[in-house]
Amino acid sequence: MNRYRQSIDKFQEAKAYVAGGVASSLRVSMKPAPLYVRKAYGAIIQDADGHEYMDYMLAYGPLILGHAHPGFNERILEALRKGSTYGMQHDGEIQLGRRLTEILPCAEQVAFSGSGTEAVMLALRLARAYTSKRKIVRFYGHYHGWSDAIFTSFPSPDFSSARPTEGNSDIVPGTNGQSRSSLQDIILLPWNDPEALEETLTQHHHEIAAVITEPVMCNSGCIAPKPGYMEFMRELTSKLGIVLIWDEVITGFRMGLGGAHERFGILPDLVTIGKALGGGIALSAVAGNREMMRLIEEGTVMHLGTLNGNGLSTAAGLAVIEELSKEDGQVLKDMENTALRLSDGIRSVLGRNGHQVVVNQLGPVFHVMFIDRTEVNDFDTFNLRDTNLYTLFAEALLHEGILVRPNGLWYVSSAHGEKETEKTLLAVERVARKIAVHP
Ligand code: PMP
Repeated sequence: MNRYRQSIDKFQEAKAYVAGGVASSLRVSMKPAPLYVRKAYGAIIQDADGHEYMDYMLAYGPLILGHAHPGFNERILEALRKGSTYGMQHDGEIQLGRRLTEILPCAEQVAFSGSGTEAVMLALRLARAYTSKRKIVRFYGHYHGWSDAIFTSFPSPDFSSARPTEGNSDIVPGTNGQSRSSLQDIILLPWNDPEALEETLTQHHHEIAAVITEPVMCNSGCIAPKPGYMEFMRELTSKLGIVLIWDEVITGFRMGLGGAHERFGILPDLVTIGKALGGGIALSAVAGNREMMRLIEEGTVMHLGTLNGNGLSTAAGLAVIEELSKEDGQVLKDMENTALRLSDGIRSVLGRNGHQVVVNQLGPVFHVMFIDRTEVNDFDTFNLRDTNLYTLFAEALLHEGILVRPNGLWYVSSAHGEKETEKTLLAVERVARKIAVHP
């Protein structure tokens, strides 16, 4: 009897009605099958066959408080009793707006939306309207959502659908069916490379509206910026009249309550936040200085969305902030310690068992890579990792009751503590002995 029988059967059933059988293309990549979930609580998720897993996927990032957090759920239920959405204004918007402007150093004002993709769309629009320029500089290995305006391929098993089919641009779109004209406004550069940045911005600043970057390359190796790189990017963009957008959809609330820009002490012009902000409820925001955000008030930049700022989402955002602010931010510090202990432990357990690995950790997030190198600090090196071996590792961990993303990125929540770390490292030890040693 297959251990994942229920999930396999349900996936087959879903395929009859749901395109591709899953609701977001990435989810199909899970091996041995896309799992169906019965319920989840704390750090634990239970599949349709009744197996329980320690969850380090955390729904791709939003669940910073873990699953079904009691305080969070209470606030959501309380909000629901008053109605889910009004298409009109309510106090929750004011309260969350005020809290975010208090918490995020870059935020004089915020604009709400429902997903990271939408927040990035708005930020790009603001930048273009503000500068009256068109081009956007983005970086290899970063991900900014799946809108036509910014989605480009990057060679990762997670994003394998891209096919260069038409057009003469050297930028490969993220998917078939994507508008080519929008990608003509994109300039792709290697990240952590100050010379490449300086050369392009200096030559083309008259047509570049914005540079958009993840402050930590979480989507490809959890790579930190080189010392001075982000400061240099800030200086150069300011000098050349280019808007600097930090995409903090992953780092927001993780690298600190004030995001990576608070942690690094740098002020971007615009910041996008999502995922953890809603704690599992659809919510994202653009935060920025008043001078740029006023384009929305003036009506020169349209910001739309039926469900924007709905009562459920603002209650979620406020609940997450309240929980993370407890004990003077100790919750986040604990989470970061857990991630540190786990990443150190995984590195040493795998190393002891003959595997060559690099584990990059920053804040409560880390990336595990099987690779014949001592460090991974750029996208080209990241692409040398053994993805097949990692797939085997992830699949073997699943059998041991540990759920991780197939691409190597691990998220830690406030529900993960010492007990969970210990259990996880024992499972990693068993798996390390089982899987083949890196050749
Ligand atoms: N920006 C970054 C940095 C992300 O990691 C993601 C999602 N992984 C997005 C934007 C898009 O967010 P969403 O999936 O909520 O549209």
